[in-house]
Amino acid sequence: MVDSVDWASAGVDVGKPALARVYDYMLGGELNFPADRAVAERLAEVGPFREMARLNRLFLRRAVRFCVDAGVRQFLDLGSGIPSSGNVHEIAQESDPASRVVYVDQDPVAVAHSEILLAGNPNATILSADLRDTADVITQAETRSLLDFDRPIALFLLGVVQYIPDSGNPAGLISRYMSGLAPGSLLAMTHFTAQNMEVEMAAAVQYFAETAAPITLRSAEQVTALLGDLEPVEPGVVLTAKWHPELGGPPAADPERSGHHAVVARKR
Ligand code: SAM
Repeated sequence: MVDSVDWASAGVDVGKPALARVYDYMLGGELNFPADRAVAERLAEVGPFREMARLNRLFLRRAVRFCVDAGVRQFLDLGSGIPSSGNVHEIAQESDPASRVVYVDQDPVAVAHSEILLAGNPNATILSADLRDTADVITQAETRSLLDFDRPIALFLLGVVQYIPDSGNPAGLISRYMSGLAPGSLLAMTHFTAQNMEVEMAAAVQYFAETAAPITLRSAEQVTALLGDLEPVEPGVVLTAKWHPELGGPPAADPERSGHHAVVARKR
């Protein structure tokens, strides 16, 4: 499918690896180019990054089900990526077809393919935006027409906050988004961690530092600090495979080496 579009004239530099496409390849997708595959292969040599990506997507499914069970039917998914199996709207609309989802990504391939996937779905849309520009995301007409800000919304930030360095004030960013949401709103977040994977993550940090998307690893305490006054639901900040495994999905090969912390937290 990736070959059926003239990406060069769409302004996509296919010679440079892009985060969204590297992740797509990790997940077994086809929306990637040789430069992306080279990065993914190099990462896979240093650690279980494919398994990390798989466990992250399994957490996404469980987190969406958790939100729906908690009565939340509106989702704002920031850094949503190239559509893969089990996207937020698919899981949520399985339970309630009226669930509404706004996806946000800045990668043109992710946006183009999300538009194709969502054509004809009146309850889901994709915005091409930089998630760090809170006002732009929140005030866009599509966001406002699909999401009711007087009712709880689930904000998803999966596998993306590690690309925001401390100087980018990720805690402030989360706080800006959450302050505009109704009480009872939820935040679901996953974040790269070196826990039980010190060597592999040190290599990944070094490698990502050479790309356009350097990463910042954060400990469970640092991830907790990003939540501000949000209240983490049980079991708090844990490795992805350990967050409510009973909510479904195949087990992890080694839950201790999930590579991401995961949390769902509630706004009082
Ligand atoms: N959230 C999805 C998941 O967990 O399966 C995709 C995660 S993927 C590793 C990270 C995504 O975040 C990529 O698609 C990338 O383009 C997007 N991204 C990174 N920084 C962004 C930013 N500042 N604004 C919008 N999207 C961003």
